[in-house]
Amino acid sequence: MRITKDTAVTLRYKILNDKGKVIEEARQPMVYLHGGYQNTLPKIEEAMEGRARGYRTTLKLAPLDAFGMRDDSLVQTVARSSLPGTPKVGAQFRGQTGTSQSEVVFRVTRFEGDSAIMDGNHPLAGQAVQFDLTVMDIRAASDEEITHRHVHGVHGHHH
Ligand SMILES: [Zn+2]
Repeated sequence: MRITKDTAVTLRYKILNDKGKVIEEARQPMVYLHGGYQNTLPKIEEAMEGRARGYRTTLKLAPLDAFGMRDDSLVQTVARSSLPGTPKVGAQFRGQTGTSQSEVVFRVTRFEGDSAIMDGNHPLAGQAVQFDLTVMDIRAASDEEITHRHVHGVHGHHH
C-alpha cells in the first residue's frame, strides 16, 4: 500500500537542529491522516506522497516550513504573583494573546524580580530543523476518520 489521500500514516520521527543534533526523539510514533487535513506539516505530507512502508528520509526545513518565525509579541511580562503556585522556569501555562483569540501555551523563560517573562513561541520557532522520518505503517482511513479529519485509535485522536 502506498501513501495517498485518505490513508492513515504512522511515522517514527526525530527532530534535529540544522547541525544534526537531535532535539526531539519521539517515544511514540505519530499517526496522521494524509491528504491535506493539516494534521502535520505540509512539507512532510509532500515528502510522504506515494511512499511505501519502510521509506525513510531526512527533510531539511526552513523555519517558515517548520515551526514558524519567532513572534516578539508573544513574549510577555506578567506579575509572578499572578501565576498559580510557585512556578519554575520552564513551567507552561495556557493563555490568550492580545492579537488572536486562539489559546497559546506560554513558557516561563526567566524571572526578573517580581515579574515572570513568558514566551508563547514554539520552542523551535525561528529555527531551521531536520526531520528524520520513517514510514512504519499505512492503512486506509475509516469513513468516520475522514469525516472527522483526523485519525482515531492508538496514538490517534480520542473522544
Ligand atoms: Zn474523531
